[in-house]
Amino acid sequence: MKIIMLGAPGAGKGTQAKKIADYYHIPHISTGDIFRANIKNGTELGKKAKEYMDQGLLVPDELTCDLVTDRVAKEDCANGYILDGFPRTIPQAEALERALNAMGTDMDYAVNVDVPDANIVNRMAGRRACLNCGGTYHLEFLRPKTEGICDTCGSELVLRDDDKPETVQKRLDVYHAQTQPLIDFYENKGILKTIDGTQEIDKVFADIIQILGE
Ligand code: ADP
Ligand code: ADP
Ligand code: ZN
Repeated sequence: MKIIMLGAPGAGKGTQAKKIADYYHIPHISTGDIFRANIKNGTELGKKAKEYMDQGLLVPDELTCDLVTDRVAKEDCANGYILDGFPRTIPQAEALERALNAMGTDMDYAVNVDVPDANIVNRMAGRRACLNCGGTYHLEFLRPKTEGICDTCGSELVLRDDDKPETVQKRLDVYHAQTQPLIDFYENKGILKTIDGTQEIDKVFADIIQILGE
């Protein structure tokens, strides 16, 4: 099963993508996590990506598309995967489609986690991230067992630089301008499934599984 997660920043894509990946035993591929790992490791890609990420802007397609099309060609993706945070622009979606068609395959579902902007600012302000394993928590909605510490790997949790309120509004603007058009793109392909992302985490997940199948 090959799945794309769509939705505004903070809609819960990453939270759901992890659960879906565990459930179907497929890799979870998050471009945001890949960029943050590169920043942490001080790579050239990380340095370039950071300039854009800190401003709430998208990393250019030239730095993003090959990263993903190479990743999905790897052996562990043979039985499917879940893309979280990619594609984010129409050119990225087209690049993905070309790469998949060249491999004789195509995406199965685009899951749109629908959350209005009004709910997003609160979600982002309370988000705490583990930059070591990509784990995500929330001060109110998904608290770690020990305050400030990742349940999975024991690292310290942080407020991401780009989750500060001044950057969140910029990211929402970028989402509406550049990413939201993908909803129509996948609707036209007949693979769009929209889920009410304002519900509790487990209910959102249950709705997704109901649509994708056991
Ligand atoms: P969120 O989960 O809150 O939407 P991500 O972790 O997916 O955030 O992305 C964080 C930042 O990384 C984005 O604001 C953007 O700068 C960059 N980024 C991630 N994925 C992409 C992509 N597919 N294209 C361009 N930039 C991206
Ligand atoms: P995205 O990957 O779309 O940017 P995340 O999965 O990181 O979003 O979720 C954003 C924040 O909201 C995180 O702190 C997460 O714990 C929290 N969250 C995710 N889903 C829900 C939900 N259904 N209800 C309340 N909070 C949620
Ligand atoms: Zn962790």
